[in-house]
Amino acid sequence: MSSVHAENAYRNAQRQFDIAADILNLDHGYRKLLRVPHREFTVNFPVKMDDGRVEMFTGYRIQHNLTRGPAKGGIRYHPDTDIDEVRALAMLMSWKCAVVNIPYGGAKGAVVVDPAKLSLGEVERLTRRYATEISFMIGPDKDIPAPDIGTNAQIMAWIMDTYSMHIGHTSPAVVTGKPINIGGSHGRREATARGLVYVLREACEQANISIAGAKVVIQGYGNVGGTSAMLLEDMGAKIVGVADRGGGVYNPKGIDLRVLQAHYEKTGTVAGSPGGDEISNAELLELPCDILIPAAIENQITIRNADRIKARIIIEAANGPTTPDADTILFDRGVLVIPDILANAGGVTVSYFEWVQGLQEFFWTEREVNAQLERIMVNAFETVHQMAQSRRTTLRTAAYLLAVDRTADAYRVRGIYP
Ligand code: GLU
Repeated sequence: MSSVHAENAYRNAQRQFDIAADILNLDHGYRKLLRVPHREFTVNFPVKMDDGRVEMFTGYRIQHNLTRGPAKGGIRYHPDTDIDEVRALAMLMSWKCAVVNIPYGGAKGAVVVDPAKLSLGEVERLTRRYATEISFMIGPDKDIPAPDIGTNAQIMAWIMDTYSMHIGHTSPAVVTGKPINIGGSHGRREATARGLVYVLREACEQANISIAGAKVVIQGYGNVGGTSAMLLEDMGAKIVGVADRGGGVYNPKGIDLRVLQAHYEKTGTVAGSPGGDEISNAELLELPCDILIPAAIENQITIRNADRIKARIIIEAANGPTTPDADTILFDRGVLVIPDILANAGGVTVSYFEWVQGLQEFFWTEREVNAQLERIMVNAFETVHQMAQSRRTTLRTAAYLLAVDRTADAYRVRGIYP
């Protein structure tokens, strides 16, 4: 992913917003306001490496909008990230929180780094320094980070600890996606995949597709891709293709997930796993299947491959995997696209539950978490689906209509200060 690529991610996010703003006939002032991030922070900071050298890193925290509540969104560690990618992802978080109607605005953070190339100690020092640099922006009622690509529960624990040391008392609700023993929520790790599966189940029912027996292809084998594979296999689906950064495997009869998982744990990639043919990421997206789950990074389905995609349903586990031009091609070809801001909102929804539990210091069982998650995801799907039908538009545009309207509405009642 080059920076030109990431620049497109921001432009694409703005184009998707413009489509909704046109249909809503959004007032010119609100349109200008919601099209750009509210706050952008960039920091260059030093980290002492294990060999005594000092290395410089660049980090960002961008808050797109704060009208519906404190800012919420993950932190990404990735070597190719840049400010435009973070802008796009922050904007998507605002719409995502509004689609599932949880009381947050959107934010995103990132550090330009490949964490796999650092020792654990170096990742900890980088995280604590980055947390310190953004500490003036974050807080349980200001901006609440969470994991994203390249970050995890341990990194959230370090951010929580760093912030808590600065303010002199423990503040569990400053981050979500923490380990359970320091205030994390049951079900948070699986939440994005679980939420995705609830939405997919509803969409398949509407489209008369049975998940049992369906052929599924998944791009990405991280937390979301890997967990989705397991959950869908449990429902009787056949996972026929999986790939990650290194490449992938294809088996039209179905991949044995236990063999795949064992290979992944040993080598850190699904590429080269026994039990299937080797394929590239580009080939994976064009495989014959019923359901395609892009669960990696932005701009994977573009005008270059959209007319060769064979899936009947694409459900976006990643943020921004489909470009607006590809969207049009897929719509014309009758492929149903379930948009990121609906499909992957289960993660931030359980983040919201974690934050509520932290503030109340009263914790729920996993069953309670999953039941509340199911209620919110099913409700969001139904609202978006109805909107798509009544406005005769795609699910993406319907989700944007709902999200942008809810956010603009919050502005209307609050008013523009001063
Ligand atoms: N990084 C996840 C996302 O893109 C989760 C964000 C959160 O839980 O705040 O939705």
